[in-house]
Amino acid sequence: ELADWQRAVRAQFPILTGTDEAYLDSAATAQKPQVVLDAVQRYLTGENANAGRGTYRWANRTTALLHRCRERVGDLIDDPDPERSGVHLVGGTTEALRRVALDWLVDTLADGDEIVVPAADHLANVIPWQEARDAAARRGVTVRLVEMPYEPSGDYDVAALAPLVGERTRLVAVTHVHHVYGVDMNVHRIRRLVGDDVVICLDAAQSVGHLPVSVTDLDVDFLAFSGHKAMALPGIGVLWARNRRGPRYEHRGWPGSPHTVGAVSLAAAVDWFEATDVARIARWTVALGARLTDGLSRLRDVRVLGCQDSLTLDSTVQRRHGPVTFRHPGISAADLGFVLADHGLMVRANAHCQGPAGERENSVRVSLHAYNTVEEVDRLLDVLARLDTALTTPSHH
Ligand code: PMP
Repeated sequence: ELADWQRAVRAQFPILTGTDEAYLDSAATAQKPQVVLDAVQRYLTGENANAGRGTYRWANRTTALLHRCRERVGDLIDDPDPERSGVHLVGGTTEALRRVALDWLVDTLADGDEIVVPAADHLANVIPWQEARDAAARRGVTVRLVEMPYEPSGDYDVAALAPLVGERTRLVAVTHVHHVYGVDMNVHRIRRLVGDDVVICLDAAQSVGHLPVSVTDLDVDFLAFSGHKAMALPGIGVLWARNRRGPRYEHRGWPGSPHTVGAVSLAAAVDWFEATDVARIARWTVALGARLTDGLSRLRDVRVLGCQDSLTLDSTVQRRHGPVTFRHPGISAADLGFVLADHGLMVRANAHCQGPAGERENSVRVSLHAYNTVEEVDRLLDVLARLDTALTTPSHH
């Protein structure tokens, strides 16, 4: 029954119909369902205008669509208090995290305050904090980039983090699902460690649309994600802020015209996720990822990367949502990328935008979403198995 559901899901992605190529790079950007494309087309051909300045119908309608987008995003992430919290439409995850680092931090923190950021996360969740360092230092705020190891389970190593969190810690910036390992990193434990008064800023770029994401349940204060990874257009993203500890943006506002079409696409994507059922997407991609991980680990020369070399894959397989990354000692990741592309398999080869503590260069990332199939995964495994044999069979001279 999950398989029937999945066939119907896949059929909604026009870019995937009528092609033999397998798109396995959804952690980079996701494909768009027909309803999102339709909404964009309808808007641009029917009511395109700028927002917030209008005396006429299209402009008012555009303003309403922006409002609806924020509401729909609030629903998707289970905002407990839409009246008081803010869904800010920004360019993407990186911009959202920059807003927190460069605006909120500098506006809000002062003398002796500290923030803690693990340096093995996505660079988008490292660089903004590095950029904020000087401005923060001028206000007496310390930015601590921590080369924080992960536990073999893929969780943050809370024991290693504990000594770094002190009385003056005001913010911890963490990631929900890791973009290389695919593991749901169990950020509940971070909240338990830091207590109620520390602001948690969550990079949810790889989790929104992949599994149910609830800011209420996760108990975070900021949440950032990108529309383009959540089946909407590029150039739109979200910074959600719990108002009680959030940025004071109401009286500042965002200058410039909003990305109206992006907001339309994002609202349509949220509708699509709701209709499709994110919990089912999670079940599908976890199962598919398990099949992939299992198949890869049977290949003699392939090594699946975990958060540590000792990662026990079995223990995390139910918490892996999309990305699976591996290395082949006999062939460089770049070469492997070309070989796979020759077989119509689109993967991400080489570096993966990981922070200074990450050592995951020269690897290949396969990342799955709702539209990927068992056949695609098996095809990839088959190509790798043949490569394994070709590389290890001695040639006769
Ligand atoms: N964080 C994570 C975990 C990501 O995977 C990505 C994109 N690969 C980003 C942040 C950055 O997203 P964007 O480029 O859309 O700003």
